[in-house]
Amino acid sequence: MARVALVTGGQRGIGAAISEALKAAGRTVVANFAGNEAAAAAFTERTGIPCYKFDVSDYDASAAALQKIEAEVGPIEILVNNAGITRDGTMKRMDRKMWDDVIDTNLGSCYNLCKLAWDGMSKRKFGRIVNIGSINGQAGQYGQVNYAAAKSGIHGFTKALAQEGARSNITVNAIAPGYVDTEMVRAVPEDVLQKIIAKIPVGRLGHAEDIARGVIFLTADDADFITGSTLSINGGQHMY
Ligand code: NDP
Repeated sequence: MARVALVTGGQRGIGAAISEALKAAGRTVVANFAGNEAAAAAFTERTGIPCYKFDVSDYDASAAALQKIEAEVGPIEILVNNAGITRDGTMKRMDRKMWDDVIDTNLGSCYNLCKLAWDGMSKRKFGRIVNIGSINGQAGQYGQVNYAAAKSGIHGFTKALAQEGARSNITVNAIAPGYVDTEMVRAVPEDVLQKIIAKIPVGRLGHAEDIARGVIFLTADDADFITGSTLSINGGQHMY
């Protein structure tokens, strides 16, 4: 039977490309979303991939949703923590809510979903977890202390959890995308975007499919020796 993959924020942007690539790789895919019903309906109609609405920053809501997904579709063996938001502002303007929302959605969600899927993966001795970090978690970014902290936290979280899963054939890896052409990046003012593109050695923004390619690599059944790593997919913008 095909393994079940859950992609959070999986019905648009990078997540949609990940969901579709996992399906093309033979997985049974389930996508999550927060509230964009129109995007979810269009995505399901186009791809046949079911979408489940729940807030990944809410532990109890995530627990109820995972129970439903596992009853309706099967045990989750591949988990891609992709859902994320930005609430940018310099420290002068960043209030506590902007901080909490970004930390809870981008980082708290990784705890919630991994915690909820962990026992099943441990029992079955198989799990592939990919957490979507960011170049801005590696290098920092002006006006993004909340986002950079959350994404940097994801990279530490990944390395710690990888050690716990290693003996149970649960791999935990991160992908750090550079600037990818999605709604999140289209919200950046055009002049700022042009300056960013000028700093990308390959000379273009990433495509969502560039990130999905990395997920397929890291979630393969035989990718069991790759764990605790961060795969940078950024057109050469940040190398270290
Ligand atoms: P988008 O803004 O295009 O999509 C975000 C997705 O996350 C949507 O599906 C959204 O659901 C979902 N989402 C947001 N909040 C929640 C929540 N509380 N619960 C459940 N789902 C939620 O983002 P991108 O595709 O651009 O980014 C995807 C990931 O990649 C994010 O983690 C982002 O930080 C990271 N990233 C993106 C980069 C880029 O250049 N685009 C660069 C580096 C990292 P809904 O549609 O219902 O709102």
